[in-house]
Amino acid sequence: MRILCIIIVCTLFLAADREQVVQRKIIDVHFHARLFTDYSNPPPANPVTGKIPEWKNDKEMMDIMLGAVKANNIVKVIVSGNITTVENYKKADPERVIPGFDYPYEGNTSLPDTATFVRYIKEGKLSVFGELALQYYGKTLADPEFEPYLAICERLGVPVALHTGLAPPGTPYKCCPKFRTHLGNPQLIEEVLIKHPKLKIQLMHIGFPWSEETKAIMHIYPQVYADIGAIVWTRAGTDFYSYLKSFMEAGFGKRIMFGTDQMAWPDAIPLAIKTIENAPFLTEEQKQDIFYNNAAKFYNIK
Ligand SMILES: [Zn+2]
Repeated sequence: MRILCIIIVCTLFLAADREQVVQRKIIDVHFHARLFTDYSNPPPANPVTGKIPEWKNDKEMMDIMLGAVKANNIVKVIVSGNITTVENYKKADPERVIPGFDYPYEGNTSLPDTATFVRYIKEGKLSVFGELALQYYGKTLADPEFEPYLAICERLGVPVALHTGLAPPGTPYKCCPKFRTHLGNPQLIEEVLIKHPKLKIQLMHIGFPWSEETKAIMHIYPQVYADIGAIVWTRAGTDFYSYLKSFMEAGFGKRIMFGTDQMAWPDAIPLAIKTIENAPFLTEEQKQDIFYNNAAKFYNIK
C-alpha cells in the first residue's frame, strides 16, 4: 500500500513537472499572416527541418498556424500581414491576436492616407506598425514618406516594428533589386529616435549581424527593444547563441523579445522555443524575460 502511494505521489509530481514545461507562457512578437499565393504550390520545405507544410489554401494555412501557436502556449501573438488577412486571424482568435501591418507587402503595397491609418488604429485593426521591410525596397525609416505615420504612432503609443539585419542570400538578384546590406544597419534609425523620443521601436532580427551598432543604439535609447525572429531557428546550429549571448553579457536581457518569424512553416515555432529553452548560458529568469516579460512590458500586455 505504502509503495503504491509513493508511486502515485511520484507520478503526480512528474505530471506537475511536465505540466510546468508545457505551461510556460509565451508571447510571439514576430509572426506573419501569409497567403497561400505568397508561396509556390506545393509550398517550400522548411529550410531547417525539410518538412513541407500541409496547408492547401488560406483558411487551412491560418488554422494550422493558429493551431501551432495555441499548441505551444503562445498566449499573445503579434500577427502582421495585410489588413484583411490579419482581421481574419483576429476574428479566429481575438484573445490571442494583436494586429500588425506589414509594409511593403502584398495588399499593403502603398501606405493608407493618414486619416485611414488613424482609423485602423482606433478600430483596433492596427496595433503595431510593422513589420516594415523597408530594406528590401531600398528605403529606411528616416525617409520623409514615413514621417507623418511615425508622428501618429508616437502620439498614440503604437510601436513600430522594423526589419533590420539581413535577408536570404541573393536577395538583390531575385525579388528585390533595391535591397542593400547597409540598409539593415539599426544605426539608420537614430535621427528618427531624436525626432520622436517617445516612439517605441522593435528592431526585428536584433540587427543581425550588426552587433556593435545594435548595442550602441540600444544603449543610448532605452525605448528600443529587439526581437530574435528568424535567426532563433534558422541559425540555431551556427552563430545564434554567440550573438544572443553577447547581448545578454552587454546587459540587454530585459529588452530582448521572443519572436518566431515563422513565415510558411508551423514547425518553426517549436524549433524557436527549443533554441531558447536549451540555451546553456540563459538562467530561468532570463528565459522568462525573453519568452514573456519583456514583450509584456513593451506591448503593455497585462
Ligand atoms: Zn524581417
